[in-house]
Amino acid sequence: MSTIIKLESLNKLYRDFPAVKDLNLEVKEGEIFGIIGHNGAGKTTVLKMIVGLLAPTSGTIEVMGHDMTKDSTDAKKDIGYLPEESPLYENMNVQEYLMFFSELYKLPKKEAKERINLLLDSLKLEAKGKYTGELSKGMKRKVAIARTLLHDPKLLVLDEPNSGLDPLTSFFIIDYLKKLSKEGKTIVISAHNLFHVEYICDRVAILKNGELVVCDTVEAMRETFGKREYEVVFQADANLDYERKEENYIFRAADVAQIASLLQKISENNWALVDLSVQQSALEEMYVGIMTEEK
Ligand code: ATP
Repeated sequence: MSTIIKLESLNKLYRDFPAVKDLNLEVKEGEIFGIIGHNGAGKTTVLKMIVGLLAPTSGTIEVMGHDMTKDSTDAKKDIGYLPEESPLYENMNVQEYLMFFSELYKLPKKEAKERINLLLDSLKLEAKGKYTGELSKGMKRKVAIARTLLHDPKLLVLDEPNSGLDPLTSFFIIDYLKKLSKEGKTIVISAHNLFHVEYICDRVAILKNGELVVCDTVEAMRETFGKREYEVVFQADANLDYERKEENYIFRAADVAQIASLLQKISENNWALVDLSVQQSALEEMYVGIMTEEK
């Protein structure tokens, strides 16, 4: 899989305040890559540098083979960027607003109309004739997302696409991003809702005070920072030294071998297996652990 984004030794100082410190990251083609961290961790700063809106103080940024610190024009044609706040021009209706941006992207009129209809349809936004100033927060966010997709970019960089949205609209958008990823788009997303991040992201980077703490799959983070525990619930016609709950025995262990040996015992004795389940740390739980850990 080819590399779409490569950040090397990236630093950003706002005057003398270090917002991003020695950041190294790679995002591969087709990935949904999450960037999470506390308020002020540096997420927006990183995203703005990736899309060429902000120059780093030092380090290199390569996006789809382009050095963004030297010439970002060509790369920008293939990037759709959704800023954290996306005020719309309130005196235009949705159709006019999106047509206006299609012209900026130099899309032919007929193609633009088709594209707008398709995007509004897939985002379930029936508000073509409404003024953008009259839209609800969720509808505005959907229009902003449609705008980032007008030119059919290969890379989507979305800064908190769900902020301020109700749970169902949020989930709709998250699911929509999953569909876009299946269509081949690479997506970088920052978000505070870690359930969403765990649900859609292939890999996650955690930033703390401008520094990368960890960058991996949630599964791999679980190996290092989380826990996984298996639980066997069974019935036996014998007096055993296990925890009891009503007529059942319960056994919990993190070690698969112990579970396997109990399952074998259950089978050999013709006991009844009631339930076998696994409980594992959610990203949220690990995040809290990582962020509160003293360094
Ligand atoms: P949030 O989750 O609140 O959106 P964030 O992780 O996106 O936060 P950034 O917006 O990147 O964080 O900000 C990182 C740090 O840089 C913060 O301490 C912030 O105050 C500072 N910062 C951001 N923009 C500027 C600026 N234009 N001038 C000075 N400092 C800034």
